[in-house]
Amino acid sequence: MEVKNLVVNYGVINAIKGVSFEINEGEIVSLIGANGAGKTTILKSISGLLKPTSGSINYLGRDIGKKKAPDIVAAGISHVPEGRHIFPGLSVKENLQMGAFLQKDRQQIKESMEEVYEHFHILKKRENQDAATLSGGEQQMLAIGRALMSKPKLLLLDEPSMGLAPIFINKIFEIVEAIKQQGTTILLIEQNAKKALSISDRGYVLAAGEVKMDGTGAKLLGDPAVQRAYLGG
Ligand code: ATP
Repeated sequence: MEVKNLVVNYGVINAIKGVSFEINEGEIVSLIGANGAGKTTILKSISGLLKPTSGSINYLGRDIGKKKAPDIVAAGISHVPEGRHIFPGLSVKENLQMGAFLQKDRQQIKESMEEVYEHFHILKKRENQDAATLSGGEQQMLAIGRALMSKPKLLLLDEPSMGLAPIFINKIFEIVEAIKQQGTTILLIEQNAKKALSISDRGYVLAAGEVKMDGTGAKLLGDPAVQRAYLGG
C-alpha cells in the first residue's frame, strides 16, 4: 500500500496534513504518536469510513481512496476499530459471522471460523454467549477474530491493547505476531509504542497530522527523541 500526500479535514479542522507512507507485503508497520496526532483518522480513511480531502491511497495498484467501506473489505483490507465495537446482543459466533458478510459460501465461513478459534480458544468456549458478557480482553480477541473472518491480506489494528490487563496485552501482541507469520500484512496503531515497535518491521512517528520520522522498528526504539517523547525514556 502506498499512501501519498493524504489530507483529511473534519469540517474546518485539518487533521491530516499531507501524510505519505507505505506498507510492504508481509510487514508489520506501526503508526505511533500522541493522542490527537491523527492515527485513527488515517486508519478510517484507508478503510473507507472517512473520505480523504485529497491525496491517494494505492493498494495493489488501485487507488482505493474514494471507495466505500464494503468495497475496501472486498479488496482484502479489514479494520479492527478502537474500542472494539463488537455487537452486543449477538453471540460470539454471530459476531464472527458478521465479519464474513461478503462471503456467501457457508463451508468457507465455517472454515474461517475454525481458523479464528485456533487463534482464540476462549472464543470457541464462549461461542454461544452474548458477546457483551465477555471481558475486555476477550472482546478485543473477538474484534480481531471478526476482522479475520473476511480473510484480509491487510489488517488495520487500532489500539488493540488499550485498557487491557498486562496478561491480555502480552497475549494480543503474541497473536498479532502469529497473524503476521501466517502471511497477513498489518498496520498497527498503539499507545504502547515500545511493544508495538519491538514487533514492527517499520514505523512512522506522527505529530499534529504529519509524519515526523520513520525507520525500522529497531531504529525508532533506539532513537533518543522517540525514547523521550513516546517510550518513557
Ligand atoms: P487518539 O489516540 O486519541 O485516537 P489519534 O492520533 O488517533 O488520537 P485522531 O483521533 O485521528 O488522533 O484525531 C486527529 C485530530 O482530528 C485531532 O485533533 C482530533 O481532535 C480531530 N478529530 C478527530 N475526530 C474528529 C471529529 N469527528 N470531528 C472533528 N475533529 C476530529
